[in-house]
Amino acid sequence: AGRIEISNLSKSYGIFKALNDVSLTIEPGTVTVILGPSGSGKSTLLRTINHLERVDEGFIQIDGEYVGYRRKGHKLYELKEKAILKQRINCGYVFQNFNLFPHMTVLDNIIEAPIVHGLLNRKQAIERAYELLDTVGLREKANAWPRHLSGGQQQRIAIARALALNPKVMLFDEPTSALDPELVGEVLDVIKKLAESGVTLVVVTHEIGFARQVADRVVFMVEGAIVETGSAAQVLDNP
Ligand code: ADP
Ligand code: ADP
Repeated sequence: AGRIEISNLSKSYGIFKALNDVSLTIEPGTVTVILGPSGSGKSTLLRTINHLERVDEGFIQIDGEYVGYRRKGHKLYELKEKAILKQRINCGYVFQNFNLFPHMTVLDNIIEAPIVHGLLNRKQAIERAYELLDTVGLREKANAWPRHLSGGQQQRIAIARALALNPKVMLFDEPTSALDPELVGEVLDVIKKLAESGVTLVVVTHEIGFARQVADRVVFMVEGAIVETGSAAQVLDNP
């Protein structure tokens, strides 16, 4: 599970078209890397998948269920809040700047969402949190405060937090762009590990080496449109 279908998506900010008729199907369990110059709409596309952004036209489905909007005839209808929330739970989102809750310990950051959404009780959530801390290699930081962690550690915790809802899809928006170069590898290693777990990954990044190693498919965007898709070699090595 975790098939994403994006159909004829358009989105403008004022008169500026950030997304211009974007269509893309992403198969379950695959890794898609989105490349393109700054301002080409990569982040906007990712945000629409999680309905952090409204669209003007087009729609998205995950496993056949609409995200944000559904089409009836020629009109788009926004989904009810409950349906949007359900899709958000299906989709983990990792931001460039980690966005951990600063007033909560690492453990509380991870257990918050599954408890609030009623997916796990406190005991189950804590158990799951320690599993995830093992996955990202930070069990010993359970009781630490986010501000006492390095950027790379904070981002690994942010990934663990997103995974706590057992999403079918994980969206990464330039997950290593805010990191010192020596910390990039530890975050990319965690994402590589996830790639083997069957979760569908969509990663916006400028890390070409990562794209070559891990991407099943590379999507190249320019000016709000997809101009090329294919294997990393096809997209990156062809003139
Ligand atoms: P990328 O991720 O490829 O750098 P973005 O999706 O962030 O591109 O942005 C695409 C374009 O849309 C940029 O030119 C940006 O300035 C513009 N944009 C993004 N968000 C907003 C917003 N909230 N209001 C106005 N313009 C925006
Ligand atoms: P169903 O899944 O049974 O179609 P919905 O809850 O999605 O039910 O919508 C019920 C009706 O309300 C739809 O037929 C649609 O016409 C209308 N509707 C849904 N969302 C909106 C909206 N954002 N604005 C206006 N009408 C809406």
